[in-house]
Amino acid sequence: MVNSIHYFEGRNLVIATKHKKEFVIGPPLKAAFGLDFFSSDSLDTDMLGTFSGEIERLNKPIDAARMKCNMAMDIHQVDMAVSSEGSFGPHPQIFFLPAAEEYLMFMDRKHELEVFVKTVTTNTNYSSITLTSTEYLQEFLTRVKFPSHALILKKSENDITRIEKGIVCEKTLFDRVEFYLNLYGACYLETDMRAMFNPTRMEVIKNLVDQLIVDMNRICPKCHFPGFSVSGVVRGLLCSNCLWPTKSVKEIIYGCKKCGHRSIEMNTELKKYEEPMYCDFCNP
Ligand SMILES: [Zn+2]
Ligand SMILES: [Zn+2]
Repeated sequence: MVNSIHYFEGRNLVIATKHKKEFVIGPPLKAAFGLDFFSSDSLDTDMLGTFSGEIERLNKPIDAARMKCNMAMDIHQVDMAVSSEGSFGPHPQIFFLPAAEEYLMFMDRKHELEVFVKTVTTNTNYSSITLTSTEYLQEFLTRVKFPSHALILKKSENDITRIEKGIVCEKTLFDRVEFYLNLYGACYLETDMRAMFNPTRMEVIKNLVDQLIVDMNRICPKCHFPGFSVSGVVRGLLCSNCLWPTKSVKEIIYGCKKCGHRSIEMNTELKKYEEPMYCDFCNP
């Protein structure tokens, strides 16, 4: 089988993370490509934004991921890096469900290669609650998988003058909630989405690494450069009822970052026709 191993073998890769994500990102890449990895603990990725609101996340995920890779490569004087980004909120289509978007960026300066993968999943415990009493506390704790998944405690959603992160001890949590309720009359609890405090998130990232490896191993049919990955989509899947084009994805475009070769492929996982419920004509 043709793969990309000779591009990456024996080289050093820096993983730009300080939340222990290197444990799920590093070993599979090492196994797949024979590279060596280390994590960058001198890189303050919190500078680029945090989940709990002290620093607003201004960059788009792809820009933030690219910036982290570049910073890590500069600091450590290596020419390969991986960074990871996550964002959490309502699902883009099913808005009453919480969803996680995870991104991984691989950069190789020597070959001027960039491979970016993303996933959207409802497999997340992302949630928050404002408490004025302990009435709904236990139900919330069960739902967010506490204490295997950590929590963050604040005075209120947007008040970060007092914030306690990474709470995993039940006694601490109950004591602190009681303390806040007595002092402020209310408090705000949210899931701690930092990967080392969130096994569900770590699992999603682990699965995304497999997708990254597949994309890094996909070879351009023309120039044999690695990273021949999805560069766009063609919409217009026909409605099964009226046969008019819908906004749904019909074909996937793969592109080469080296020679610019593009190929359009019918994704075998995609449907042949769209259901009328997604058709603007049948279901406006
Ligand atoms: Zn090519
Ligand atoms: Zn239709």
